[in-house]
Amino acid sequence: MEQASNEYVLALAEELGISPHQALCHTSLLIYWANIHARDGVIRYFTHKELANAALWTGDCTRFFRALEAAEWVVGRLLWDRTGLVPVWRSGHRPPPHVWKWIRAKVLLRDDFRCDACGRYCGEDDLQCDHIVPIWAGGSNRYSNLRTVCTSCHRPKSTREREEAIEHRKRYGEED
Ligand SMILES: [Zn+2]
Repeated sequence: MEQASNEYVLALAEELGISPHQALCHTSLLIYWANIHARDGVIRYFTHKELANAALWTGDCTRFFRALEAAEWVVGRLLWDRTGLVPVWRSGHRPPPHVWKWIRAKVLLRDDFRCDACGRYCGEDDLQCDHIVPIWAGGSNRYSNLRTVCTSCHRPKSTREREEAIEHRKRYGEED
């Protein structure tokens, strides 16, 4: 079983200078609130103060919002982790399929179903969630390392990556 950690909670704790337990309380409340008021995760209609109140953050509400952004709880107009606390899989390892399915759906939604390479809008079936720094090179599974690409833009990259990965394994004798 691969190791998982809740990097997002730890990152928020660090941003705000609070304990991981406190960060967990704030984010749990925020998720609870979003499940009622922002079911699709879209939070742009809410003010920083409303979000801070929902999370019972009594300090500066803009600082709280900026920390949510820095810790990748808020990406663009979306609150990512609306549905629960999803752990991040260790860099260099692929998350299990049921987690990957969830991450992929979020990345496609963030990117408005638009290919990052050619700019084309596509249906969900024609899009892939791509690691910018590949897994074999130690790339992370955080949202900042993921992007949406269409199948035709992804194919040449995958072929090249597979060759590079084989080359890498030959040279360093590492497991995939
Ligand atoms: Zn494309």
